[in-house]
Amino acid sequence: MKIITVEEHFMVKEINDRFNQIIKPRDEFDKNQLGFVSMFVDRGQITDLDEQRIRFMDENGVDAQIIGYGNNSPMHISKEDGAVELCRLANDTLAAACNKYPGRFYGYATLPVDDVEASVNELERCVKELGFAGAMFNGSFNGHFLDEEKFYPIFKKVSELHIPVYLHPTEVTKELRDYYYSGSWNERTTNVFSGFGIGWHYDTAMHLMRFILSGIFDRLPDLKMIVGHWGELLPFYFDRMDEHLSPQVTGLKHNIKYYFENHIYTNPSGIWSKDDFDFVLKSFPVEHILWAQDYCYGVNDIRVKTFLEEYPIKDETRELIAHGNAEKLFCLN
Ligand code: CA
Repeated sequence: MKIITVEEHFMVKEINDRFNQIIKPRDEFDKNQLGFVSMFVDRGQITDLDEQRIRFMDENGVDAQIIGYGNNSPMHISKEDGAVELCRLANDTLAAACNKYPGRFYGYATLPVDDVEASVNELERCVKELGFAGAMFNGSFNGHFLDEEKFYPIFKKVSELHIPVYLHPTEVTKELRDYYYSGSWNERTTNVFSGFGIGWHYDTAMHLMRFILSGIFDRLPDLKMIVGHWGELLPFYFDRMDEHLSPQVTGLKHNIKYYFENHIYTNPSGIWSKDDFDFVLKSFPVEHILWAQDYCYGVNDIRVKTFLEEYPIKDETRELIAHGNAEKLFCLN
């Protein structure tokens, strides 16, 4: 069974060094967070786009990775601080690896969203010249969610280029962290609670809902968006949202679930939970379920192939989820 994983990451040491010079920690928490992210760079696994990654894929049955930038993405840097050049460096680095390993690596564009015009141009270059398969956005920019009208030209270009958008989490703002996630527990708990423990999944869920409620899918009927982590909690609320966020309330053309069934795709992001998979199979069209390990963050539990092989579903469905849906969505054939 061929496996294509769609939420895999890389980082570039030079970009991370610049990130650490530019982004000033607001407090001790930020400082520790930056240190935590940089630890992955120091280990070298995430910066490798060569033999080490290929070896991991070969050993674990992964035929192809679709790769986007990890934490400390240059998309979070302002245009004054050189976002355009740093995103270009990220994209060129990834493209060189994709050229070296055709059919094994595919790329998501990283865009300097603080400069919308430059983002549109860079996206076009990434798809038409570098052959990238999609664009990845790591959360909001400087407290601004990307559904704001000023970012619309980027998504219009995405739609014109017939590529999907990956909406990935990032750290929540300091305001949200203090309000929701700080309390009578230690800093490490706040870090995980506000981040990959659950906080950034709620944040990504709200980001996606904001896109839906903004009407962007009515304006761009070809736009496709992927969220990881089995739908970022939202499938549990499809029925409730359909009842209460009806078109009579929202002014949208359709009910909420319609947008998931026609525009939104999801995948496990390396969370090997049978209950989650059961629920997503019930709540999403099978053609909208993709596969992912979350390399190299999610390498403590590597069941990327065995989990799917052992799961009791029809082989036809398994093949779609393992690779067929990704091949169609990313136009890989
Ligand atoms: Ca990830």
